[in-house]
Amino acid sequence: RNEIANFRNCKSIAIMGGTFDPIHYGHLVTAEAVRHRFHVDKVVFIPTGRPAHKSHKEVTHNEHRYLMTVLATMRNENFEVSRIEIDRPGTTYTIDTIEQLKKMCRPDVRLYFITGADAIHQIMSWKEPERLLSLCDFVAVTRPGYQKNQMFEEIGEIQEKYASRIHYMEVPALAISSSDIRTRAQRGMPIQYLLPQEVEDYIHKFGLYQNERKDEVKFM
Ligand code: ATP
Ligand code: MG
Repeated sequence: RNEIANFRNCKSIAIMGGTFDPIHYGHLVTAEAVRHRFHVDKVVFIPTGRPAHKSHKEVTHNEHRYLMTVLATMRNENFEVSRIEIDRPGTTYTIDTIEQLKKMCRPDVRLYFITGADAIHQIMSWKEPERLLSLCDFVAVTRPGYQKNQMFEEIGEIQEKYASRIHYMEVPALAISSSDIRTRAQRGMPIQYLLPQEVEDYIHKFGLYQNERKDEVKFM
């Protein structure tokens, strides 16, 4: 295996899953806020492989998304990036990821799965939600454009049904999304200050999110 598992001895870990196409300050601010609030040792960013919900959409190559995530997390010693989803063949299910990650950790590790306001209500449509909710806590974070009240309702429903630990958390509001950044890049609008400079440099270097890619990059 090639995984650099710098989190193997941690007592508690927060998992930040996402397409990260590209990763931006909304993700980073959220991860750091959760790390501080729940006193976790590490936040592990896990770029998605082939998500069941997004398979029809065109997503940038795994390796580009993985490398942008590494660049963005470089300066935080408590942030790690895992390849477990991008290296696992077949459709990606979060339950498989959590189980695989747990096997790489201390048996008593405490796991927190971070999810934005737009994703929390989808949990119930994921594979084996009960088992998922028994393996890790969920942290539902606020996100601009999504109503807090609706979030409370959705969290309440899941809590009632599964009596699990779902935490609500307000994070500094950043109205940034990957889709908006992709559109901006395509139209030649500025993306600076929405994401780390290194990630912006990477996007320009490989001509990502352009109709015509500058490069002739081949993935071997
Ligand atoms: P896209 O627009 O392509 O869907 P995105 O900006 O939503 O991209 P994802 O990779 O889909 O980014 O998101 C990963 C996780 O981060 C999700 O749980 C999402 O809710 C959360 N997230 C993304 N942007 C923010 C933000 N600005 N504030 C809080 N949470 C966010
Ligand atoms: Mg999204």
